[in-house]
Amino acid sequence: MAAPAETGPVGGVALPDLAGDLAALRQAHRYRARRLLETPQRPRARIDGREVLSFCSNDYLGLAAHPQVVAAVTQGAARWGLGSGAAHLVTGHSGAHQALEEELADFVGQPRALLFSTGYMANLGVIAALAGRGETVWQDRLNHASLIDGALLARARLRRYAHADAADLARRLADGGARLIATDGVFSMDGDLAPLPTLAEVAAGSGAWLLVDDAHGLGVLGDEGRGSLAHWGLGAVPGLILMGTLGKAFGTFGAFVAGPHALIETLIQRARSYIYTTAPPPALAEATRVALAIARREDWRRERLGELIARLRAGAAELGLPLAPSQTPIQPLIAGSAERALDWSRRLEEAGILVTAIRPPTVPEGAARLRITLSAAHAPDDVDRLLEALADLPREAMP
Ligand code: PMP
Repeated sequence: MAAPAETGPVGGVALPDLAGDLAALRQAHRYRARRLLETPQRPRARIDGREVLSFCSNDYLGLAAHPQVVAAVTQGAARWGLGSGAAHLVTGHSGAHQALEEELADFVGQPRALLFSTGYMANLGVIAALAGRGETVWQDRLNHASLIDGALLARARLRRYAHADAADLARRLADGGARLIATDGVFSMDGDLAPLPTLAEVAAGSGAWLLVDDAHGLGVLGDEGRGSLAHWGLGAVPGLILMGTLGKAFGTFGAFVAGPHALIETLIQRARSYIYTTAPPPALAEATRVALAIARREDWRRERLGELIARLRAGAAELGLPLAPSQTPIQPLIAGSAERALDWSRRLEEAGILVTAIRPPTVPEGAARLRITLSAAHAPDDVDRLLEALADLPREAMP
């Protein structure tokens, strides 16, 4: 077929200057670049042709490349084929999805669970299904972007309370009601915990739903890795909606929402990011079933994580490094400016250590950081190597 004739600019209104916008991002040290991973997800990885020791995966329990999890995908594909072929509500909901939903509900102690394709989609779907246009949604200032976007999509009134501050929320609620309160269980860029017991009290007192996004708590915190709610010893919480992701501690992909029967049925009727999308491959659900069983059973993975966290924090304290106050595998080292965070990240990479720089707008202005994450797949020696490299970072302020 002949190539279409080349045409020049047609004239008229100029297109937006994307190249100029990109140059400005670069100038502000906010340009985001991808890297090419050449190995499975594990601490010793090859990225962009270079062997590195990686501290930036959310594979907290070291399950992403676990042989039994990988084998379950192969066996699952042999049993179910690969594509699910349709949305859950058409013909995409397989026995594998159903079994996983039942096992997840049992795991988190809720009557029902509903699978979503990603955590991002789960948060969009839940918030837009439960909060209508103009209804008030209160969110922690440091909530994950997908929670914020859910409120925007719902065209709800998005209000924010001070980080991890239930008293601030209670004060602000006195001025008007709330339809839904949303919080990360473990904050994704800070690693600290939401005060769930007091948030639950405030939510119950105001008749609002409490959506807890436990993407970084499930698998890691609490007995059998049941997450932030188990960590806080919270049993039945009225109005609680739990969102969990499967691509972090469980090492696979996807997400779920758990709660009472009527909530789940409402999401099936109303959550657009559930209804209008192809169900994930059933083989993936089979792999997650295996990963979930390992995560529940193998306490040593959480114990190892605890030891690594303690080792890193003790070493950093000795070096006078200002790690943020976190007891989870997310251990941020605050750099301040985006330029400094990038400089630190580059220097670490030269020493063979990979820790990505997290910059605004992902984190607030002036709070760019290295987001160090630990995994049960790390060895104590790996943490020592990281500490040696951190000790060499220049600490004087950047010009
Ligand atoms: N919530 C939080 C707190 C997260 O950190 C993430 C992932 N970065 C998500 C939701 C989105 O989950 P997913 O990656 O499955 O879309």
